[in-house]
Amino acid sequence: MIRLKSPDEIDIIARGGAIIGALLREIETRIVPGVSTGALDSFCDTFIRSHEGAVPAFKGLYDFPASVCVSVNEEVVHGIPRPDRVLVEGDTVSIDVGVKFDGWCSDSAWTFPVGEVDERTHELLSITEEALERAIAAARPGFHVGDIGAAVVGTVKDKGFGIVRELVGHGVGRDVHEEPQVPNIGRPGHGPRLREGMVIAIEPMLSRGSDRIRTLDDHWTVVTADGSRSAHFEHTVAVTATGPRILTLAPVTTGQLGRSAAP
Ligand code: MG
Ligand code: MG
Repeated sequence: MIRLKSPDEIDIIARGGAIIGALLREIETRIVPGVSTGALDSFCDTFIRSHEGAVPAFKGLYDFPASVCVSVNEEVVHGIPRPDRVLVEGDTVSIDVGVKFDGWCSDSAWTFPVGEVDERTHELLSITEEALERAIAAARPGFHVGDIGAAVVGTVKDKGFGIVRELVGHGVGRDVHEEPQVPNIGRPGHGPRLREGMVIAIEPMLSRGSDRIRTLDDHWTVVTADGSRSAHFEHTVAVTATGPRILTLAPVTTGQLGRSAAP
C-alpha cells in the first residue's frame, strides 16, 4: 500500500532531510586520501545526533552495523565502514545516509571523488547525477513510476554505462523503505501513477561496466559483478501539486541547522 503524506508531514521529512543535505555538504571537505571509511561513519553519526530529534535511520535497520553506508569504487551500496578501510587518491566513495527525525525518515546518497579521478570516472559521476536530476523532474502528479526509470535510461543511453537494475528506489515515510518500488529502468506511462503526497527516494546507480551485481561474504556489501567502478546519487522527493520537491537539500543559508551541526 502506498501511504500518502500530508503537507505538514512532508515539511517534517524536509527538516530531517535538510540534516542529510547539510551533512553531505560538510563531509565533502573530509573526503581526502588517508581518511578511513570508519572515520567518515563516526563523523556522520555525531553530526546527525547533534540535531535534536534526529537519529541515523540505517543503524540497526535489518541489523546493519553502522550509522551510514560507505561504498568505495566497485562497491555499489551497503558498504560497511571500517577504521582499516583507508581511501586513496583516485578512489570514489559513496555516502548513503538515512535520518529519522521526529519519527519520519529521509534518505540521500552522493558519490564523491577522492582527490583527482580519471576522466571516465568523472563522466560516470556527472552522468549519474544528471540521471538523478532528470528522474526527479518526472516526479509529478499524473506521471508514472515508469517515467522515472525511463528518464534514467534516457540519460544513460549511448554513454556506455551499465544501469544497476537489481536495486531500486522506494517510498519513504515512517519507514525507510515503503511502497512503491522505484526502478531505474522503466517505460513512460507504466507502473503506479504518481499522486500528490507521495514521497519517494529516487536513486540511480550506474557502473563503468556490467549492470550485474553480487553481494560479498559480509552479507552486506553489494559490488559490481565485473569489479567496475560504480556511482550512486539519491534524493528523497515529494510529489506535490506544483511539481517535485527535493526534501534532502542542505539549507540554502547557514541557518540554525547548519550552525548547530558543526562538530
Ligand atoms: Mg539511501
Ligand atoms: Mg534509498
